[in-house]
Amino acid sequence: MSFLQKTDPDVYGAVQSELGRQRDQLEMIASENFTSLAVMEAMGSVFTNKYAEGYPGRRYYGGCEFADQVEQLARDRAKILFGAERANVQPHSGSSANITAYLALCKPGDRIMGLSLSHGGHLTHGHKVNFSGSLFEAHHYEVDRETERINYDALRKQAMEVRPQLLVGGSSAYPRAWDFEAMGAIARELEIPLLVDMAHFAGLVAAGIHPDPVPHATAVTTTTHKTLRGPRGGLILSGAETGKLINKWNFPGTQGGPFVHVIAAKAVCFLEAQGDAYKKDQHQTVANAKALGAALVERGLRLVSGGTDTHLILVDVTPRKMTGKEAEEILESVGITVNKNTIPFDAESPFVTSGIRIGTPALTTRGMREEQMVEIADIIDRALAAGADGEDLPGLRKRSQALAANFPLYPELA
Ligand SMILES: *Cc1c(COP(=O)(O)O)cnc(C)c1O
Repeated sequence: MSFLQKTDPDVYGAVQSELGRQRDQLEMIASENFTSLAVMEAMGSVFTNKYAEGYPGRRYYGGCEFADQVEQLARDRAKILFGAERANVQPHSGSSANITAYLALCKPGDRIMGLSLSHGGHLTHGHKVNFSGSLFEAHHYEVDRETERINYDALRKQAMEVRPQLLVGGSSAYPRAWDFEAMGAIARELEIPLLVDMAHFAGLVAAGIHPDPVPHATAVTTTTHKTLRGPRGGLILSGAETGKLINKWNFPGTQGGPFVHVIAAKAVCFLEAQGDAYKKDQHQTVANAKALGAALVERGLRLVSGGTDTHLILVDVTPRKMTGKEAEEILESVGITVNKNTIPFDAESPFVTSGIRIGTPALTTRGMREEQMVEIADIIDRALAAGADGEDLPGLRKRSQALAANFPLYPELA
């Protein structure tokens, strides 16, 4: 980064510090991952200079032949990867993809019904502080108090009462596999569209590990930067008819010029995701989450829903007489980055919480396996037992740093 270093030492310094942080910490935020260097090269390319409002072959600017080429590649690869009829690769983010999908599938003022944020849903699924809760009349379903899983019979019953005009599935902090067949049946019975937001588990869907929403949903939105392991961005999949509305509501409906450099990077990601190495990594990600969860349970912690089918676990830290906020801070001090998270029926506020969410995608990308997950569970257990001023913390930090050093980030650069 010699040009950046020369022009702007301050920004260069921040980039270097961030690289050091990513290299030395154990990154266990469930929504994060490490893209390939090929993805980053595409993202840092001259396509950042290009305006390309419209779609391939139908642009509002000249000079778009190569922008057309990468967007067409991205669309075709996304369609192959997920078996969808149409793909819109322009949304700048997962939230932008959802804004577009909502406006394509229903009208402001309509009733929507999604999983409650405090039970694992996302802000864009109708939370009152979000556009989705202010533009639409939002209703929420929750997980079952006993099983901490979605009960699809109860969901159906609630949907029959609420009569939403759009049913929304998908989650950010729900460790279990979704039953999209059941959701599709409910939507069909109500004669309403089903929107599935697979932002968190899209990589697992691509690898055939998580149930596939595409055959059951009217539209499927996702981010491209979580388990999928591409650049930061969004994607919308649908059938041909819905695809027309999605395209219209993306541009000119809600966005201006697409980020062609990011679209180029999405194309690279969708190519990588078709390979065997990628599929193996996604399988390992889930195996790692299961191993980590089992090792934490052995050490006396409680997992919401008793386990996981995905890349993340939700740990109830109340058996340790602490809050999620305290646990997050203690783990950060020993070099493990996680986030506090509400657990279903949480007694604490969303800023304090009773849980932490831990994900394995990023460390799996670095090459870690079940053995390392058991080591990490041990560090987590001992750190939480030591408490904020525990004298064991420096030693535990050394153990996490040793792990990070043994699994280098971007070894190609070394
Ligand atoms: C992360 C996430 C989003 C939002 O993605 P951004 O790119 O951060 O806007 C939307 N829905 C779900 C379910 C998510 O997990």
